[in-house]
Amino acid sequence: MDNEMKKYENKLSTNGYKLTLQRRDIISVLLENKDKHFSADELFTEVKKINKDVGLATIYRSLELFCKLGITRQLDFDSPYKYYEIKIEGDHHHHFICVECGKIIEFDDKMMGKFEKSLEKEYNFKILDHRIKFYGLCNECEKKLKGD
Ligand SMILES: [Zn+2]
Ligand SMILES: [Zn+2]
Ligand SMILES: [Zn+2]
Repeated sequence: MDNEMKKYENKLSTNGYKLTLQRRDIISVLLENKDKHFSADELFTEVKKINKDVGLATIYRSLELFCKLGITRQLDFDSPYKYYEIKIEGDHHHHFICVECGKIIEFDDKMMGKFEKSLEKEYNFKILDHRIKFYGLCNECEKKLKGD
């Protein structure tokens, strides 16, 4: 078992859960696709490729558990389905959402720290967290709409 998987196993076991084969397969698909964002159905399709015994109900139940334990994060892209991604230690990113094709692009917000500090000072408010998403056009859609 690699280091990363070991961390998730520890997280499960300290909360009284086992890293079952199905949970492990789900986590490994998520880890192999770190920059992807899965709906439960999409995840089901991918996991089934390596484990035929896994059912959609298991995917839903596992995602619920993983989100509760902070192994995955549920994402709201204003779509009919919820999306999920694996939480990586030390990683912090947000998303651009293309309003034309629905593509999700990740970005870092390194300058956010400075901005938060100045907001805290100006408004005397302790900031604990933030949620950012930007709507716009991805490069391909922008080109297409411009017609060149
Ligand atoms: Zn697009
Ligand atoms: Zn993401
Ligand atoms: Zn941020």
